Parts: sequence; structure tokens; C-alpha cells
Amino acid sequence: MNVLDTPLNLRLPAAVAKKCRAAGLRTVGDLLHHAPRRYYHWGTLTAMRSLHPGEDVSILARVVSSTLIANRNRAGVRLEVTLTDGFDQMTATFFGANQYKLIPHQRLLTPGSTHLFAGKIGAYRGRLQLTHPQFEEAIDGDEEAARARQERPIPIYPLGKGLTPWVLSRAVGMILDELDDEQIPDLVPEEIRSEHDLLSRAQALRQLHQPARDEDYQAAKRTLAWQEAFVLQAALAYRRRTQEGDEAPACPAEGEGSRELLAQLRAHLPFALTPSQEDAWEQIRADLGKRAPMMRLLQGDVGSGKTVIALLALAQVVGAGHQGALMVPTEVLAEQHAVSLRALLPPECDLTIEVLTGATAPRERARIQQAMSEGVPMIVVGTHALIQDSVDFADLALVIVDEQHRFGVAQRDRLRERSRQRVGGDAATAGPLTPHQCVMTATPIPRTIAMTVFGDLEETRMMGLPPGRTPVATHLVSAENTPWLERLWARAREEIDAGGRVYVVCPRIDADAPGTACADGDIGGSGDEFVSNVDAEDALFDSDALEEGAGVADARAPQPPLAAVMEMAPMLGAHPALTGVPLGTLTSRTPSEEKVATLEAFACGTVPLLVATTVIEVGVNVPEATMMIILDAQQFGLSQLHQLRGRVGRSHTPSICVAVHRAGLSPQSMARLEAFAQTTDGFELARADLKLRREGDVLGAGQSGRASGLRFLSVLRDEEIISQARAAALACLSGSSSATESLKRYPALHREVTVMLSDEAAWMERV
Ligand code: ADP
Ligand code: MG
Repeated sequence: MNVLDTPLNLRLPAAVAKKCRAAGLRTVGDLLHHAPRRYYHWGTLTAMRSLHPGEDVSILARVVSSTLIANRNRAGVRLEVTLTDGFDQMTATFFGANQYKLIPHQRLLTPGSTHLFAGKIGAYRGRLQLTHPQFEEAIDGDEEAARARQERPIPIYPLGKGLTPWVLSRAVGMILDELDDEQIPDLVPEEIRSEHDLLSRAQALRQLHQPARDEDYQAAKRTLAWQEAFVLQAALAYRRRTQEGDEAPACPAEGEGSRELLAQLRAHLPFALTPSQEDAWEQIRADLGKRAPMMRLLQGDVGSGKTVIALLALAQVVGAGHQGALMVPTEVLAEQHAVSLRALLPPECDLTIEVLTGATAPRERARIQQAMSEGVPMIVVGTHALIQDSVDFADLALVIVDEQHRFGVAQRDRLRERSRQRVGGDAATAGPLTPHQCVMTATPIPRTIAMTVFGDLEETRMMGLPPGRTPVATHLVSAENTPWLERLWARAREEIDAGGRVYVVCPRIDADAPGTACADGDIGGSGDEFVSNVDAEDALFDSDALEEGAGVADARAPQPPLAAVMEMAPMLGAHPALTGVPLGTLTSRTPSEEKVATLEAFACGTVPLLVATTVIEVGVNVPEATMMIILDAQQFGLSQLHQLRGRVGRSHTPSICVAVHRAGLSPQSMARLEAFAQTTDGFELARADLKLRREGDVLGAGQSGRASGLRFLSVLRDEEIISQARAAALACLSGSSSATESLKRYPALHREVTVMLSDEAAWMERV
């Protein structure tokens, strides 16, 4: 057995192992990869000014004085110890039943001595205080030892239940003392390590926990980050290589059926494609003509015109006699897409476009499924219902996934697997066929993340928007600003009177339900937008995060409930400014037929005011909509806000977006809203977003910190490491006859990659 898999109770005293277990550390590997949060030097005391009440801290401080005091109103005594960092002071207080109980403390905490204290910071009479902190003295020794100690960084571990930094240090020390470096298998092959100046894995773990100087742990962290990137990239490369032999139905654009159909469609388009649409189409058209399955990520800002590209691509495969699927995240969007795709068809064109969602009536469903399983050439637009077990495509040649941030790799794989069993049904032919794939997203993804999370896809970017759009004017309004809010509803009325449509978006459905913006989505919400969900322990991870922690505290203060659709709708119905304006509601709870009817009524103007949740977030296209009002806008992430704003500004008429937010937001939340108001360029917003968000938020819940297995690698910061590791991983996995053969040359890596890929690709999952 790999020594890293050894349970801690075989290596540590039972009590210590139990404490570790309570903190989630079960194996030697868990413990050794539990990285110190920061490092101290004995010479440098912790700046007290940086501490906040409520924080769990470990600090290095010098004792100024200690005084034994009898309690005034109750029995017992207390020891008050004044601590300093050289500038500021704070108190550590210990209580005891009598003075004898506190003798050990008093004896150790002598004026002038330096200790490491751990505990929760409180405030008492305006002064910071630690109550009953655990503490550990800086061990005295001869002068030489003292000097060595000055240079040696002290690792400070994140505090866990009952696990003080020094308990952890000692546990790690015990493990490291007994550890045979030979037993720690290296994941990065030797020649690559020397080429990139990396430590061995064993050495890196030693230096991480027991550095002699700062450079030691820095090198250790770099090695461990590199190793993570390498394993990740090896897994992606392996996955790609095992798919290399896959074949897709080749559908050349010049092929008989396709050529004619495409010419018809293009001639009938109500607009000319923009140059970047032409480029994207060029690439996809060429890919579809090949036998190698296309794997493409098509990025284009909200409103950049991805749908028409999807239509052309789907038409190309249907023209060639195959089937095509367009997978979207919500039922509303499936209906919408079908409508907008059909609207682009010339009258003489007999391209079949069907919609299949969870809401499709049984008879209709049976009819569509029959046609699908008979291999009738057609386009099917659907939700995740398309990957359900009862659904079979006989001849699927292309899958387009719209708004990828809602779908995971695993779901895409599943669709491919499912269709693979069916496609090319003739058992005599070489093997099953794999459909081409295209993932369309309006949420721009930084290159490093694209490489990591979508490492299996090639990338196409569409820049800019079709001509004739007017940028949406965006305003922020504080909910406290009542005159402004009144003016807002009057303005909505003006838009409607002028023939426009107005959206009002709320984060919740019901006033009393604890639902959130993300809880409302046909496939269970994406959660990746929630900046306020900072995990308390993670928030302590570094000082930047502490700033965010402050924002979280705000959010917990008593606040009026969040705006809810079922509350806003009657309120607006009764609002004097909106008298006589027909109003509709739309949430994930609205029955499907009603959803369609409501959106139709909104689109044609009979119901020009729509109060909704984020179900309208993606893709809904009503060009007449000119005003977007977002209530409790602080609840939404930047890309979600951008998506919402993208619902207006879809015609030549100037549009307006108003984000109403609470007063007293954290600087972080305010910065996010200001960034939103400042630009309408999605790529620029994505950059701003990255600066404001933390890693885990960017990757989505399933990928943050520990859950992703990425402890040392930052996909935002470590671009260089990722690309180096990617090249190295590719080199390792090429060469030999098969990917598996290549991988087997590196047993430890092989094992890690297998585990990672079998893990339902949790770390690759875009929630
Ligand atoms: P998204 O990329 O957000 O999915 P859509 O495909 O919904 O964008 O396109 C937004 C709007 O722009 C649609 O009404 C579409 O008909 C229109 N559109 C697309 N391409 C062009 C173009 N080249 N010129 C003018 N309008 C276009
Ligand atoms: Mg779209």
C-alpha cells in the first residue's frame, strides 16, 4: 500500500489521530498535504492591527506583563496577560477557580517572553482580547540554536476543531521522522522534474512543513502546484488520446444535401453574418466535414449571435442525412430556441425542428422519440431530458451545448456515450461513431481555465456584437433612495407606453422561502455565482479573503427579506404608476405551457411587464424589451447580471438597465456592482470578475479548494505552470502505441490519473 494512504491511527498516538480525523484528516497523505496557512519568523511578531474580533487566529506575541486579579462579582481569579507586537497591545485572559490553578500559566508567561497563541479573538471594552488561548513558548536554547530559529519559518496551520498549530506541527513531525522518502511515489517523472527545477515529492512535503528558510517552502509550493497541474493535464491528455481513434460521421458542407440546404438558409438570413461570425462558421463547417470528432468551445458575448451559427451547423449535419441536438439549460430556453431557429428557416425549407424537454406531453414525446430512434434526419432542441435513459438517437452527428456553464463535462460525456452506442448501428462497420460537439458560452472563460476545465476543447472566439445595437445604459440605485424608486416605476410605465417591454427580476420566488437566485433554475441552479457564500475557514486562508469575510458578516446582519416574485407582482399590480398595465410572472415553478404562453404574451406586447426570477437569465430573446430592472442586485454574480442585462438592448431602440441594491453593502459587493455599471463588454467584465472573485467562486462550487483536489495550484495565478505542465504531460502521453501503454510507464501517475478520471470527473465539472 502507498504510504500516503496509511490511516493516521497506525502512525500517530490515538488521541492525536482522533483529533486529526475530526478535522477531516484521515491518512498520512491528507496530513502531509494539509498546507500551512502562513509562516512566521520568531523575530517578527503578528501585527495586532490586522486582527478582527471573531477571527480564529494563531499569533506570535511578546508578553508585557501578567497580573493575577480576584474576580469582583464571583468566585475565582483571573490572569490578565498584556501582549504586544511592538506597536499595539492586547490582552489574553485566563480564568481559574483559585490562584494555584493559574500558577503554570503565570510561570510560563513571564514578561519579555515570546509565545505563539491560538484562539478566537474577542473584544472587551473596545480592546482586542483572547480568552483562554492555547499557547506555546518559543523554546529557549543556546545562541546558535536561537539564531537558526530566527531564520527558520514557523508553519502556521489553519485551525481545526481541537487542532492547534503545534499539535499539527508535532503530528507532521512524527510522520516525517518515520517516513522513508523512497516510499513516496513521485508523480512527475524525474527528467521533467530536473528540466523544470522541481523538488521530489517527498522533498517538497518535507520543505512545506519543515522549511529551514523561506525559499524552502516557496520551492515546495511551486513543486506541489506543478505536480497538481501535471496530473490534471495528464488526465486531460489521456482522455483526449483515448478518444483519438473515435470517428464521427463526416458531413462535408459541399456534400449533396448539405450544400443546398445551407445555401437556402444563408440566402434567407435577414442579416449578413458579421466577420467574426463568418470566421467561427468557417471553422465549424470545416470541422464537421472531417471524420475526427469536433470538440469546440465557441465563446461569444451575450447577443453576439451564436444561435445562427448553431442553426447552420445543425443544418449541415441534417442535410447530410444525420441528426443534430441542441442542448440548453432550461425549458424556457428550449422553446425559445426552437422558435428562433424556425424563424430563420425559409418557407420552402423542410428542416424538422422538434423540442423535447421534461415538459413535453407524453404523446408528443413518443412521436419525437420514435423519429429519433428511427434515425429520421432532424434537429432536436432539448434540456437535460435529452440525456435521460429513455431517449435514443439512432444517428446523432452533432451535439451543441448552449450556455455551457450550466452543464458539466460528465453530462456531455454521457450524451456522447449514449449516442455512441446507437450511431452507425450497422455492426459490420468499423465501430460506433461519436458525434461532433460544440459548446457555446457567453461567459468568457480565461485561457488558463479553458485549458484546465475545458482542456479537451478547441476554442473559437467571436468578438463584438452585430451592428446596430445600442449599448444598454446601466444605473445603480440604492433601495433606500425612495424618490428614485418611485421614479423607476414611472419610467417603466413610460417605456411600456412607448411600446417597450419591461422585465423585473427578483432573487426569490416566495417571500418566506429561503430560496436564492440560484435555487431557481430548471436544472437546479448553478451556484457558481455566489460570491457571498464564502466558506468561513477558507475566508481565513489569506488576508485578501479576510476583507471578504467582512462582507459576509454584513450579510448576516438582520436585513429585510429579499425581493420575491410572488410579492412584487401584486405590489406592482397595485402601484399607481402602473395602473392598467397587464403583468405576468415567470419562475421555475410556472407550469411549462404557461411559461410559453407568458413569454409569448410578453413578446407580442399584450403583457408588457414581466416579473420573473433568473429563469429568464440565459438566451431569452425579446427584441422589444427595453428595460431591465434587477431587484436586490447584490445577490447576483457579475456574469449573471451581465446575462440579465443581455435580455435588453436587442434592437435599435435605446435600452436601460437598473440594478437596485441594498444600502450598506460590503466594499466587495459594491465594487462588483460598480464594475457591472461601468462596462457592457462581457470580456472586460469577465476580467473584472476574476479580480473580484476568489478562485473557488470562479471554478464553481464543485471545484473550489479541497473539493477539486487543487490545493496548491491557482488556475488564475499559475498560468505559466499550467502551460508548462500541459506541454510536459502531452509529451509523456504521446510516443508509445497507446495512451494506456504510455501512462503505464509511470505507475504512480497512472494510478492518480485513473482515480481522477473514475471520480466522475468531479474536478472537471462545471456545475
Ligand atoms: P447569443 O450569442 O447571445 O445567443 P443570439 O444568437 O440570441 O445571441 O442573437 C441575438 C440577436 O442578434 C438575435 O435577435 C439575432 O437574430 C441577431 N443577430 C445575430 N446575428 C446577427 C447579425 N449578423 N446581424 C444582425 N443581427 C444579428
Ligand atoms: Mg444564446
